Amino acid sequence: MKIAFFSSKPYDRTFFERENENYGFQLHFYETHLGPHIVNAIDGEEVVCAFVNDKLNHQVIQVLAEKGVRLIALRCAGFNNVDLQAAKECGLQVCRVPAYSPEAVAEHTMAMLLTLNRKTHKAYNRVREQNFALNGLLGFNIFQKKIGVIGTGKIGKAFIKIAMGFGAEIIAYDLYPDPSLISMGVQYKSLDELFGESDIISLHCPLTADNHYLINQETLAKMKDGVTIINTSRGNLIHTNHAIQALKEHKIGLLGIDVYEQEEKLFFKDLSTTIIEDDTIQRLMSFPNVLVTAHQAFFTTEALTQIAERTLKSISDLLTTGKTDTEVLL
Ligand code: NAD
Repeated sequence: MKIAFFSSKPYDRTFFERENENYGFQLHFYETHLGPHIVNAIDGEEVVCAFVNDKLNHQVIQVLAEKGVRLIALRCAGFNNVDLQAAKECGLQVCRVPAYSPEAVAEHTMAMLLTLNRKTHKAYNRVREQNFALNGLLGFNIFQKKIGVIGTGKIGKAFIKIAMGFGAEIIAYDLYPDPSLISMGVQYKSLDELFGESDIISLHCPLTADNHYLINQETLAKMKDGVTIINTSRGNLIHTNHAIQALKEHKIGLLGIDVYEQEEKLFFKDLSTTIIEDDTIQRLMSFPNVLVTAHQAFFTTEALTQIAERTLKSISDLLTTGKTDTEVLL
């Protein structure tokens, strides 16, 4: 059984080859994204393993089906990049990794918040230059701040537990409130209430057709002046140009993003010797109060181990029994 991995990096190879000792599949690693430009290269692989920025639209899925691919295994949680209707029509099954160390993403969220707030990234460089002055490094306590968490699933919940350890007050919005969080003292509010009351807003909901550009000019206007926003979920939850305007107007005080709406052209690549044509990300990175990380929130040993384990198990289950509890159904 051959599996074609797209958008693969050396660390994917390391973790998947180790786990594959339990299965003996033939693993073919391609560095390129999966998209219309490469899909014809599929040759004898029955399974395609894709990541967050691979584009599995109708055209790509149709070619995959014609080439004999039976299964799309996403080695990530989100599946907004797959046309599920097309997969169903073409008879391809889709599985994903619904949970892989939610703590990895939650801990990175807190790392971004602390870095932005306490400016440790600036302090590190300053001290190396023998500049021991504190001007410009002033932060605020997270203790007793009101943090609004949008999406209280596995990652949101893990982040809430960390933030509660700091003594923050947590308010939340989710389509399905979690009773266990309510019993821990989390107050669910309407989105408008959350926008109006939060000192810090952290996004942990999936990207859906309903919440595309959830953070936009209109919703930003409802927020406190100087609000901190952290997005480790999906780039299209934030209208980047509206966020830039809000940064210029000091409406947003601190912005941390691990995801970006045009990230597929940039993230996971070393572009240090090329000219970046995306002026929006360049403008964003020019603000002293913006921190961008390149979709690394998941990137821990524990998470990569679980991704490899779960992905190969789902593939094995689907190929042998036709079923897996990680199948993405319409
Ligand atoms: P999850 O399914 O456990 O939780 C998602 C929660 O969001 C659920 O409680 C759901 O009810 C809620 N929700 C759905 N639509 C909503 C909406 N419109 N408004 C508010 N809440 C809504 O998922 P998870 O494992 O916690 O992951 C959350 C998201 O984090 C993923 O969808 C993915 O986009 C992102 N993610 C990012 C990284 C990274 O490395 N940056 C890694 C993994 C996941």
